Amino acid sequence: MEVHNPADGRIVGAVADTDPSQVEAAVARLRSEQPAWAALAPAERVEWLLRLQDWIFANSADIADLMQAETAKPRVDAEIEPMFVAEVIGYYAENAARFLAAEHPRPHSPANMSKKLAVTYHPYPVVGVITPWNYPLALPGIDAVPALLAGAAVVIKPSEATPLSAMELARGWAEIGAPPVLEVITGRGATGAAVVDAVDFVQFTGSTRTGKAVGHACVDRMIPYSLELGGKDPALVLADADLDRAARGIAFGGMLNAGQMCTSIERVYVVDAVYDEFVQRLVAIVAELRMGVDDREFRYDIGPLVDSAQVEIVRRHTDEAVAAGARVVVGGAATGQGNFFEPTVLVDTDHSMSCLAEETFGPTLPIVRVADEDEAVRLANDSAYGLSATVWTGDRARGERVASRLEAGTVNINDAHVNLFNLAVPMGGWKQSGVGARFGGAYGIRKYCRTRAVTVDRLPVAKSPSELLWFPYSRRKAGLALGMMRALRARGLRARIGRH
Ligand code: NAD
Repeated sequence: MEVHNPADGRIVGAVADTDPSQVEAAVARLRSEQPAWAALAPAERVEWLLRLQDWIFANSADIADLMQAETAKPRVDAEIEPMFVAEVIGYYAENAARFLAAEHPRPHSPANMSKKLAVTYHPYPVVGVITPWNYPLALPGIDAVPALLAGAAVVIKPSEATPLSAMELARGWAEIGAPPVLEVITGRGATGAAVVDAVDFVQFTGSTRTGKAVGHACVDRMIPYSLELGGKDPALVLADADLDRAARGIAFGGMLNAGQMCTSIERVYVVDAVYDEFVQRLVAIVAELRMGVDDREFRYDIGPLVDSAQVEIVRRHTDEAVAAGARVVVGGAATGQGNFFEPTVLVDTDHSMSCLAEETFGPTLPIVRVADEDEAVRLANDSAYGLSATVWTGDRARGERVASRLEAGTVNINDAHVNLFNLAVPMGGWKQSGVGARFGGAYGIRKYCRTRAVTVDRLPVAKSPSELLWFPYSRRKAGLALGMMRALRARGLRARIGRH
């Protein structure tokens, strides 16, 4: 498969379109290597990941070059990806042993006090990580890291549009001489489907449509999955917001990576009292955004969209909105060069328009005027998606109150995208935006494990040869056992002794 640069269409590389029939053999290879990897102490796996982290820091500029070749991202966006993977390695390296240690919960009832309880964590042998094109190193990296630390082997199937960056992870892993428990398999959807058919856990990031197909396939095989899907994130600008910060934050939240971000702000609800002033400030900022092809110079804010199909979606959403009565205040069109689309602000939009109903995944910010906070919340929740949301207000308690009413997996108050850099909280979507979550402290690594519960007698005392509820049943034994259960649980003395 040829890999193209989206700014000028030139071919920047070629990778194998792996035949689905070859996936099984690759997964079998990983499966045979995984037990030795899982048998290492967590600290030994941590050491391999820290060596990968060293390698990433040493090679981050080259990785960013390659990523710019296949995405034409601005330099900042390209350099942040290896740093982000390194950050995730650092976080889980510090915490993996603790998160994976056996737990010993107290028995829930006095009747069970004689037992010592243990919960232990055991990795799924092979985890499949399937990723889209918008963050071609970060997404496979941040999912592979905790899975590897959990003791799983990992096969990554990156997007066919941007496979080169993910292949760097495999190159780094091989160059540090780590055990062969990480492979990158390139290919299209059919190759991804073959991964789903072969692995023991699927970590999928991509569109809701493909996510549903992956979910169906996983249910057929009765294997677990985590789906990080599309979004249509709302921003709510309340009357007491710092409008300067709100405008800057929403411009960043909507335009980062040219809007090709699952947590992109794609709907802006502004209360009437501050609407005109907010729009004026936002437009001033968006009009100043610099669009172009960066080298290593950090000159541009916005790059192109990934391909012409993506340009077409953004164009359709904009044109349909205008045809239905919306107004373009800035931007509004593809530039005609490469896959660039101008940063765009649309006003007079409403929920009948595709720009507010469907995921756009481009540099557009449709704005809706609302009467008050209640209408903003109602419209924000009027979406099939529920990935994340932002609330802009000068009153922290009010922000938290509004957050509690939003149907979203994350709410950032007076900030955008910042949850992504807080690895102790889960990043997961409600409604059509996903199942499960990535990150989230211990959850982010334990999700790659099965649990085993073990019960054993607390005291090594001589046991009677039988238990109260073992055979043979009798009225006397049943009366004792059931009477005890009632006495421990029922409310009130009369109920406890069986008198009603
Ligand atoms: P996509 O669903 O088209 O493809 C994602 C991956 O799935 C690709 O690697 C593709 O080859 C593979 N694939 C396709 N068909 C498959 C099948 N039947 N079985 C298994 N794998 C298959 O998504 P895309 O267009 O590459 O990415 C954009 C989407 O990703 C947007 O909807 C965006 O919101 C979403 N996304 C979500 C998050 C998140 O964390 N929630 C993050 C980034 C992107």
